[in-house]
Amino acid sequence: QNMYTDRQNSLGRDYSRLEDRERHAQALELVDREKLTSGPIIGGMLRAGTNPQDVTNPFDINQVLGHVSEATEAEIDAAIAAAGKAQIAWDRQGGARRALVLNAMADALEADLDRLVALLSREAGKTLNDGVAEVREAADFCRYYAVLAERDFGGPETLQGPVGETNQLILHGRGVFACISPWNFPLAIFTGQVAAALAAGNAVLAKPAEQTPLVAAEAVRLFHKSGLNPDLLALVPGRGDTVGAALVNHPGIDGVAFTGGTDTAAMINRSLAARPGPIIPFIAETGGLNGMFVDTTALREQVIDDVILSAFGSAGQRCSALRMLYIPKDSADQIIEGLKGALAAQVVGDPADPGTDIGPVIDIDARQMLESHIKRLSREGKILARASLPAGSERGELFAPTIAEVKTPDFLEKEVFGPILHIYRYDPAKLKEVAGKLAARGFGLTLGVHSRIEAFASEVIRLVPAGNVYINRSITGAVVGVQPFGGEGLSGTGPKAGGPYSLIRYAAEKAISNNI
Ligand code: GLU
Repeated sequence: QNMYTDRQNSLGRDYSRLEDRERHAQALELVDREKLTSGPIIGGMLRAGTNPQDVTNPFDINQVLGHVSEATEAEIDAAIAAAGKAQIAWDRQGGARRALVLNAMADALEADLDRLVALLSREAGKTLNDGVAEVREAADFCRYYAVLAERDFGGPETLQGPVGETNQLILHGRGVFACISPWNFPLAIFTGQVAAALAAGNAVLAKPAEQTPLVAAEAVRLFHKSGLNPDLLALVPGRGDTVGAALVNHPGIDGVAFTGGTDTAAMINRSLAARPGPIIPFIAETGGLNGMFVDTTALREQVIDDVILSAFGSAGQRCSALRMLYIPKDSADQIIEGLKGALAAQVVGDPADPGTDIGPVIDIDARQMLESHIKRLSREGKILARASLPAGSERGELFAPTIAEVKTPDFLEKEVFGPILHIYRYDPAKLKEVAGKLAARGFGLTLGVHSRIEAFASEVIRLVPAGNVYINRSITGAVVGVQPFGGEGLSGTGPKAGGPYSLIRYAAEKAISNNI
């Protein structure tokens, strides 16, 4: 064997290769033909549910991809009862045994990559590269939490105490977790939450976002195929005000993990506070009002690439996405010209097409909210550039990515979730004041700096709270185990996803002092 020519690193997918494009085309054809079904999955069986709905493609809303029905209260009760029973043995098995299932799930996701990518593009409007990254991230969460399960749930840790007494600390699962996930990472975040809860020894009821129940059902089926006792993971699709509320208020739920909007998190927090009985953990990962500060030493081309990716990648529908770009007055014109050119080169269109850079937004509500924000921007700010939409874009929810200038540094009160970049030209002498206004909004998710001066970066980091800071690079696309992801303040409770402490709030700690 020749080590230079016979060995290859894992390629992921490369859609410039005919072979990978053909594989994608076949997967897409299959997804279009098979008409998937989602609904309550309890004990591994699809139940009847209630309130059946079509699931459609946001790029072409006349394309029905499949169907979903909502979990009833009786089904939720049954799922919680089964989960509670199965959890006890799962917890006792210990982390190493649970890791086997999580690793098998990671392999299963990778084996099904082409089909999942096709489904992500149809159901969630993901471009192919975003879809591939999402499948890989889901697999990474499983493998990473498998390592943590082995590390922290492998038996008692002995602590030092008086002679003759043994003192031990044991981590164990809390019981049944409700995992409530968003549509913007319908596979990666869905799988990440479930994998974390399972790794720590819990059973799970998972509620996917209303817009993306099909890929969630596929993930649940893959978990079950990977050797997970089906009672340990139930799917309970439905609306937040029905299924979400039923879960949060259910006395059989021992913890809640939520990723989504800040307002919804606050509502869940109030419901949990009003529950009779024990206080249970709430892990919330919410929105951000993410800024990037550029100074006059920044490299213009690098700024342009990183801003385009951070603001418009995934159609701006990442909670990490760039919303507010602060550029110094003196270099503003040059950077803005470059950004306009780069935006014009972005291809907006069918996310299932390998040539597309930016797909649709998720649904009509999202598009209308963005259109009305554009009206505010034309009144109170200035639209600098909009990308062009292809012919036929009225079939779905394509929205023209936009760059706008704002006159005040605190124009935004909260995030506008989509492909709109706001630019503010700042006076470097007033950095403190400008950054302070962003900080005062109370969010703390991602923060970008573009500079070649260490002192500038440290000052921005001191002035603006953020869970994830990125210097001289894009501010999206946190990698599991590399950039543990999650925010502070209005942006979330922690612990971060994909980091060494991810599992701690999914677990309970027991200290045993033994004098036998
Ligand atoms: N982890 C993703 C990133 O770093 C964002 C997750 C989210 O949008 O919720 O871009």
